[in-house]
Amino acid sequence: MKQSHLFTKTKKEVPKDEASKNAQLLIKAGFIYKEMAGVYAYLPLGLRVLEKIKQIVREEMDAIGGQEFIMTAIQRKELWEKTDRWSDDNVDVWFKSALKNGTEIGFGWSHEEPITDLMKQYLTSYRDLPTYVYQFQTKLRNELRAKSGIMRGREFIMKDMYSYSLNAEQHQTFYDAVIEAYLKVFARVGLGDDTYVTFATGGAFTQFSHEFQTITDAGEDVIYVNREKHIAINEEVLSDTVLKELGVTKDELEKVKTAEVGNIFNFGTVKCEQLGLSIVGAEGQSVPVHLGSYGIGITRLMGVIVEHFSDEKGIIWPNEVAPFQVHLVSLCKESEDVAKADALYKQLQTAGVEVLYDDRDARPGEKFADSDLIGIPLRIVISPRSLENNQVEFKYRQSGEETHIFYTDVLTAIQ
Ligand code: ATP
Ligand code: MG
Repeated sequence: MKQSHLFTKTKKEVPKDEASKNAQLLIKAGFIYKEMAGVYAYLPLGLRVLEKIKQIVREEMDAIGGQEFIMTAIQRKELWEKTDRWSDDNVDVWFKSALKNGTEIGFGWSHEEPITDLMKQYLTSYRDLPTYVYQFQTKLRNELRAKSGIMRGREFIMKDMYSYSLNAEQHQTFYDAVIEAYLKVFARVGLGDDTYVTFATGGAFTQFSHEFQTITDAGEDVIYVNREKHIAINEEVLSDTVLKELGVTKDELEKVKTAEVGNIFNFGTVKCEQLGLSIVGAEGQSVPVHLGSYGIGITRLMGVIVEHFSDEKGIIWPNEVAPFQVHLVSLCKESEDVAKADALYKQLQTAGVEVLYDDRDARPGEKFADSDLIGIPLRIVISPRSLENNQVEFKYRQSGEETHIFYTDVLTAIQ
């Protein structure tokens, strides 16, 4: 993509009410636009990052047998009444509205109820189980506070997966597979070392639910970790019994701030029973279905990545989620040199390298500052001076390392 073509420009100013580092950097660099507190639009650069994150998650969900689909945002009140989750006393994040005829509706903050109801039409025999479905969807939640930028949205993208299993054992096998798949996701986006599977409350049918918590000062949660053993415990469940079970003492734990990037639950058979989903077993008997629910906050994850990988100059995208692999920055003015820069851009593009080409007529200092802010992993500077030696300059955003590469060797050097 040519930068002169990109409608977004970098900004010096951010909205006055924006206190979070992730949103400030993303707004300045032109990745997101703030509509209001907790509500952000994803601009072309931001969308590229989101799609990269989604693709990683998609690959890992497909690898454990997930089938992707997409549910509706508009939901029926009666389904949530069946499980006692319609009332604002029980769920405090509902956005609700009504049809012209007065029928009340809710906007999806989660999807266990509607998906379980949908499954009544498709899961009928024990042969249909297990079944795993997932979606990427914009969730709407009337969050009380939204001060963490894209880490806490009132509108945000979640990957939510649901498992329907025949018995506890079948459920557990998949639950364990999800833990492994989630750890792969967080490792692939560069957060492996700082993300912990954390024991927490909230599992109504098991002693614990599992949260995936990433250490960051911008986080809203507090957990206790042992980095060596890579063990983490949520404050709520910290007790002598739990410590004993995990084989750690309180002094071996460090208190850290974290952001919850994922959460997985076992609903047992209760939710399917409440909603009337059961299947016919091998002997013709009615069998209850086990439900598991597994979320990853896609936009929150993007925010955590920015919090984690940035410096005073801007963002430092990890390779796997960077909007482009190469930022080709041209300082050429003479038509002969410009033709060489253009040709290099074409060559990289043709070879399938994702390139942002800064072809703008701007000062070098401005171009470099923008490039640092946007944070693409590899910057290639092509200038009249470097071309005198038939060379270009490679500069790595993360290490700051610089090398000179012959113009004709650029593609091989990248590969
Ligand atoms: P939190 O305690 O942070 O409010 P939650 O327990 O309400 O999270 P879940 O309902 O389990 O979250 O949602 C699954 C995942 O969706 C979370 O692990 C988190 O990554 C993400 N998420 C939840 N709420 C938000 C939000 N308001 N904005 C962005 N991501 C969110
Ligand atoms: Mg919440």
